[in-house]
Amino acid sequence: MLLILVCLGLATAAAWRNRHVCLWLWATEYAVLPPRLEMPVTGLELSDTCSSWHAPRSGGRLHQGADLFAERGTPVVSATRGVVWRVGNDPLGGRVVWVLGEGRSLYYYAHLDDWAPGLRSGQRVHAGDALGDVGNTGNARTTPPHLHFGVYRVRLLRVEAVNPLPILARGREQRPVRRCGG
Ligand SMILES: [Zn+2]
Repeated sequence: MLLILVCLGLATAAAWRNRHVCLWLWATEYAVLPPRLEMPVTGLELSDTCSSWHAPRSGGRLHQGADLFAERGTPVVSATRGVVWRVGNDPLGGRVVWVLGEGRSLYYYAHLDDWAPGLRSGQRVHAGDALGDVGNTGNARTTPPHLHFGVYRVRLLRVEAVNPLPILARGREQRPVRRCGG
């Protein structure tokens, strides 16, 4: 994987920019998933959610995440312990936060109304720490406010999107997850 090669390289500018990724890949404390993830939208239960995993999206894309609907301004918290990788603005995701988290996975929090005050790249977070608020920024402008929650597992040579709802169901009373809109 390119990032590992960058990390193994000399003290290049690219390695310095990606130092949080390098430390995260190195640290064994982030290798395994905890028995139970924190629900990333405060107050939401698994039974309130529905699955739109791999539903068709514009441009031939498939939906790679879970849309967790809640009122605008509902707090969004980190699902796991980790290191904040990126706090920024994307055309699709709007206001987004990426966290390098447990289970050697990237956690993506998108369409935020706003970020938590002072949140910055390189900051360590615990499960339940504030990342921002639910909104509908980016390509969610025409939809009700929701958190798009993505989980990407880092494999040796690739990064693979995984369905977040079964991961959120671990350690919780199992409830059947409905498909959205039907
Ligand atoms: Zn989504």
